Amino acid sequence: MLTHRQLATSGIPWSAHVSAIIEGDNWKTSEGNLQTIWASLPAYKPDPHKEDQIIWSQHGTDKFSIATAWDLIRHHSPTQDTHLLIWQKEHIPRHAFILWLAVQGRLRTRDRISTTTAIPSLLCVLCNQEPETHDHLFFRCHHSRAVWETVNRHAGLTWPSLSWNQLIDWAIVAHKCKKNVTSMIARLSLAASVYNVWQERNRRIFSHQFQGRDYLASEIIQVANSLSDCDHHYAFEREDGLLRVPNGTACFPWNIQHTTGFQVPFPFEIFR
Ligand SMILES: [Zn+2]
Repeated sequence: MLTHRQLATSGIPWSAHVSAIIEGDNWKTSEGNLQTIWASLPAYKPDPHKEDQIIWSQHGTDKFSIATAWDLIRHHSPTQDTHLLIWQKEHIPRHAFILWLAVQGRLRTRDRISTTTAIPSLLCVLCNQEPETHDHLFFRCHHSRAVWETVNRHAGLTWPSLSWNQLIDWAIVAHKCKKNVTSMIARLSLAASVYNVWQERNRRIFSHQFQGRDYLASEIIQVANSLSDCDHHYAFEREDGLLRVPNGTACFPWNIQHTTGFQVPFPFEIFR
């Protein structure tokens, strides 16, 4: 594409057609500053015997589309599967949102606040022993770790002991399968745990209210109740607090006191 300045200094009339700069089968290169431009386009020779056509040279198909134009101008980043861990059909929006912020390290933890504002203490309000960071809150802090371990013991889940970022990387690989009941419970447990730990932290700071670990764990465990609102699920009337899926191994002893029962996502059959 030629700029206005290039056209103005080329001596070519503003109303000129492309034919004005074609001589025989070649570009007319005598026009001063156009020579360097033509030299950069050696592959394109004018052909007076063919009709003009517009080619979208930025894409392999030579055909313009909004998708190829957007792909050309957008900022390209490495593909991430984080969304598979956070956003799922059964997710609870407020849990997923807080988890989304936590995964990006964007919660207003005290270490982050201190970079812009002077605050009296950097210590975690759950244990008062270590600086409050994402890595500490989820789940290095002995208070949040105790809650996390109680929830996972209850759900029959095993998570490795890793830093926060490593834990998320591991979970994305281990629990991204949408149709696996164990992974679904793992994702919901993670989101509920992060949400409730963050809520407890805020309660202590802003309302000076404290909840015990067992109470916090029981609140998180109740997240399973939310599954009963999902569409396309088979109803399951709890008899012994266990969920059983076809392979017969994944059982989730939530011990939920819920009169309408617990539900398993389609297409899993329930073995009673
Ligand atoms: Zn702590």
